[in-house]
Amino acid sequence: MYLADEAWPDIKSQLESTSLALVPLGSTEQHGPHLPAGTDHLIAEAFAREAVSEVDAICTPTITIGVSSHHRQFSGTMWVEPNVFRDYVESFTRNLAYHGIDRVIYVNAHGGNREHLREVGQRLRDDRIMYAIEWMWNDSIPDLVEEFFEQPGPHGGPKETSLIQYLHEELVHDNRIASAKNDGLSNFNQQTGRKFGARVFYDAIDNSKNGVFGDQTDASAEKGMQLFEEATQQLVNLSEWLIEQEFSSLMPADPV
Ligand SMILES: [Zn+2]
Repeated sequence: MYLADEAWPDIKSQLESTSLALVPLGSTEQHGPHLPAGTDHLIAEAFAREAVSEVDAICTPTITIGVSSHHRQFSGTMWVEPNVFRDYVESFTRNLAYHGIDRVIYVNAHGGNREHLREVGQRLRDDRIMYAIEWMWNDSIPDLVEEFFEQPGPHGGPKETSLIQYLHEELVHDNRIASAKNDGLSNFNQQTGRKFGARVFYDAIDNSKNGVFGDQTDASAEKGMQLFEEATQQLVNLSEWLIEQEFSSLMPADPV
């Protein structure tokens, strides 16, 4: 069930059997010259809505603005401060408990949100209010990502390009894909932006002048479809596993 489309009596009946909410979260930030600023939240919402069509869970509205100040040099990037993001997410997650939800999956498609969602999950668990965990689609299917892409890149690369080509073809500027690669940093690796063991960059623009990484020319809608289907299955599996757990087993262990 997608919460925002339903009326309260129907939501009430659904909540009688449902303990799990999927919360899609992304960003509104630059994704290079070829992809829409909404790339991350469009991807997150697509996964969450597809998964709840198969499991007993609700999908909440999407959180479309996240922690993105490291992309601010590119027009249209929006962001909130990390503490504001954490407090906002914590507040609505805490309040889902009022309706009987006691476990949440943050279906997150933006790396910059990650550590903050984990912190919120930890706070809620320490308070024994809610068990909330963070899931990112590409981490759920590492073998397929590796098989498909020699240069996947961490941002605006062929992974996200393929998914948006599949999900929202009309929003992709195909005629800018070659320049996305040529003007960006196609060969991102573990040494990028590091000196003597230290990470010496803060912003995307420090490493890539058009803001993207990886080889976008390796993307296709066909790959996007397979990535979407396989990662959705992982999210369904995770949801089913989580629904089966006793709440007490998800809470912090007692002192020894
Ligand atoms: Zn992204």
